[in-house]
Amino acid sequence: MAQSNASQSSDFIRDIIDEDMRTGKHQGRVATRFPPEPNGYPHIGHAKSVCLNFGIAVQYGGTCNLRMDDTDPSGESMEYVESLIRDVKWLGFDWGDRLYYASDYYEKLYQYAVQLIRMGKAYVCSLSADETREYRGTFTEPGKESPYLNRSVEENLDLFTRMRAGEFDDGAHVLRAKIDMASPNITMRDPVMFRIKKATHYRTGDAWCIYPMYDFAHCLSDSIEGITHSICTLEFENNRPLYDWFLDQLQVEHHPQQIEFARLNLSYTIMSKRKLIELVEKGIVSGWDDPQMPTISGMRRRGYTPEAIRDFCERIGVAKNDSLVDMALLENCVREDMNTKTPRVMAVLRPLRVVIDNYPEGQVEEFDCPYHPQNAEMGTRKVPFSRELYIEQEDFMENPPKKYHRLAPGREVRLRYGYFVKCVNMVKDPNTGEVLAVHCTYDPDTRSGFAPDGRKVDATIHWVSASHSLPAEVRLYDRLFRVANPLKEDTDFIKFLNPKSREILKMCRLEPSLKNAVPGDKYQFERLGYFCADPDSSANIMVFNRTVTLRDTWAKIAEKGNV
Ligand code: ATP
Ligand code: MG
Repeated sequence: MAQSNASQSSDFIRDIIDEDMRTGKHQGRVATRFPPEPNGYPHIGHAKSVCLNFGIAVQYGGTCNLRMDDTDPSGESMEYVESLIRDVKWLGFDWGDRLYYASDYYEKLYQYAVQLIRMGKAYVCSLSADETREYRGTFTEPGKESPYLNRSVEENLDLFTRMRAGEFDDGAHVLRAKIDMASPNITMRDPVMFRIKKATHYRTGDAWCIYPMYDFAHCLSDSIEGITHSICTLEFENNRPLYDWFLDQLQVEHHPQQIEFARLNLSYTIMSKRKLIELVEKGIVSGWDDPQMPTISGMRRRGYTPEAIRDFCERIGVAKNDSLVDMALLENCVREDMNTKTPRVMAVLRPLRVVIDNYPEGQVEEFDCPYHPQNAEMGTRKVPFSRELYIEQEDFMENPPKKYHRLAPGREVRLRYGYFVKCVNMVKDPNTGEVLAVHCTYDPDTRSGFAPDGRKVDATIHWVSASHSLPAEVRLYDRLFRVANPLKEDTDFIKFLNPKSREILKMCRLEPSLKNAVPGDKYQFERLGYFCADPDSSANIMVFNRTVTLRDTWAKIAEKGNV
């Protein structure tokens, strides 16, 4: 559970709660909720809200409910509910038995609406959608009163009952709050409370054909659950007076305080479910859990850990103004977490065959290699060494430039955990000139990694034994978008996709200790980055995702303008 590293740092929301605790508001109770609409898989932005709401509950000894805010039948589904449950749990949070659904409150909300009609505070309006918009006015001009404003309570009750009974078509009538069409805050200009929508809801089926609007449903759902602090994102700031208006009119027992904070925006990706659905539906990604997606499920599949995501959410903190957080910060949190946790192994992504001419045919040695350089408790594994190896293609150059210190004709390097080898020859494709194999000799006296005569080498490269290594597919990921803020531009965000966001390498070789790796297992492939076994792995071939590189190479590339 996340309780152990729940945030203890302060911010303006915790300041408000501290003050409420001091003055005894809400009788010293702290009750929050995370209220997603089940119309998509949760993303890293939701994680910020999850960590904030659950983190506060843990910190103040309160409770945090998980509530499906499912008041719109279109686009909501059980699949999304399940993803939310799975991902919030995976992030390390516990809502006990407090999983709620706004759709369970439909009857209560209906009765609240009837109460407002009886009080003369709500009316059935029969303007068309276009007329309603026109009557609403603008930021600079007040709205106009609806011609239906003064319908009698009886007529309103009759119409509202018949709306519920399904007598009217979509859009024929709506129920509106009677507030003030001249209010400078457009939200307060007689907002819609219920609308007719003849659609099947994933939970209530066809029991209802009128559905409550967010502003009406949300404050009352909070109140029904006895929430004390209703934390939401900044775009709801103008809705706060309406939130309070409904609760004040109805004189409910619990009147939570709405507090707004800035939503998370992350560079080089997008955070809107509507846009993420587009990527899924157009087949641009393989699904919601594609490791390129900023979804929790995508990040999990890619190898991100709950600890890293929680650490990230804590580091970005909560503020009152919108900003764009650098993706590099998230990646660094992942890197730091992986650094301490993952065993080191050797894998070769783009293999080049190496033959050690003076190593006896058929001979195999087993090297004991530590899993972690700083953590002996992680133990060791045996890595076989033989006459034929694979190294990375990029660790050999026929004509090396000055600063290249790795293998080259006549050049000696150290094999990680093993001998010094020296390149004596190479085999090339006569047609293309491509180097097919490199021939080396080894120095049997350098088994310790050092030469008895004290001679030095400039590079240590990783390798695997050709006949012992396992085949693998490795998927490398890069930024999903070429630009930091793809939604900022006024054009189609799809065109900013990074064509190199995924590279699939099918000829990779892994050291044999990885034989029993199962999906979700995480490793550092020495010199290459952190990797996580993918569920696509089969008995024939393992599949690994690169979680993150060892260093932030992107910042450097972007600086040079090569993307
Ligand atoms: P989206 O724009 O992705 O559809 P949403 O706000 O419509 O997001 P909800 O399911 O309504 O999605 O969100 C559930 C909760 O998560 C809300 O309280 C919302 O404020 C919060 N949330 C959503 N996106 C972010 C974000 N990027 N940063 C912080 N909190 C967020
Ligand atoms: Mg929403």
